[in-house]
Amino acid sequence: MDEQKAEALLTLEGLSITFRTPGGEVTPVPEVSLQVRAGERVALVGESGCGKSITALSVTALPPADRALRRGSIRFAGQELVGHTQALSKVRRGGIAYVFQDPMASLNPVMTIGAQMAEALPPMARRERHARIVALLADVGLPDPARAAEAYPCELSGGQCQRVMLAMALAAEPQLLIADEPTTALDVTTQRLILGLMVELAAKRQMALLLITHNLGIVANYMERLYVMYAGRIVESGPVREVIASPRHPYTRGLIAAVPSLRLDKPRLQDIPGTVPPAGRFPPGCAFAPRCPLATEACSAAVPPLRLDGARAVRCLLT
Ligand code: SF4
Repeated sequence: MDEQKAEALLTLEGLSITFRTPGGEVTPVPEVSLQVRAGERVALVGESGCGKSITALSVTALPPADRALRRGSIRFAGQELVGHTQALSKVRRGGIAYVFQDPMASLNPVMTIGAQMAEALPPMARRERHARIVALLADVGLPDPARAAEAYPCELSGGQCQRVMLAMALAAEPQLLIADEPTTALDVTTQRLILGLMVELAAKRQMALLLITHNLGIVANYMERLYVMYAGRIVESGPVREVIASPRHPYTRGLIAAVPSLRLDKPRLQDIPGTVPPAGRFPPGCAFAPRCPLATEACSAAVPPLRLDGARAVRCLLT
């Protein structure tokens, strides 16, 4: 994709997400800025608890982000969404669709697939609606789509249910699909098939894709650009190939070293020591300092700024 020519579809600028709790305000995301261009495939990467999912949910204020105080700016297709209820509900109706991790938890077990898909479609004649449902199920590669429309979720495998979720997301013909760990609950072979299908459908429909994942192996194979998030801030971003070939932030290096490999000549899998600090208890300065092998005293003095270098950006004092 030509980065200069492609227009920004989604822009988050200085977004912070805060929850009011009985113990006071908690801010899992102090400041995030990112951009997804029309038709682009972008990944948001980090361990669990880094703020990826709540950032994605806050775009359309889906629960629990509907209870959060969002400060900063979220623009989608030129429209500001923070504090603009009408623009937000329009975007929810078709501009942005989501696919989540566990399809079995998202589907209603006592409704047929067809009946659930019908709810995602705009009003239309019964016969037309049935044809559309079958066509969508065929698009996502279900072998007998007419039969699948009559089935209950328990009659389908996990991979087939995730294909159904994808079909439901596509029903509204969104400009952006946000997929939050969409294949974590699936076996590796099905994971590959579903991700390949998502990328193929995104290309066919000129739909942008924002993939939320902790798995850099997946990102390397399917995405164009990535943002690495830690403690609610972007710490590195850039074209996937460049970042993976020469990561600059110690956290990105740690994530890459933690990707399993079947090659026996590769060094053993390495863990990043420690854990992500809980929201509201981020250490001062660089939040990664307690886990960083390069940390110095200066790292804890203030949050390092995000330094731009062409298509890449990094938030670290030493790299
Ligand atoms: S700023 Fe310091 S602690 Fe933070 S990642 Fe860079 S070297 Fe490590």
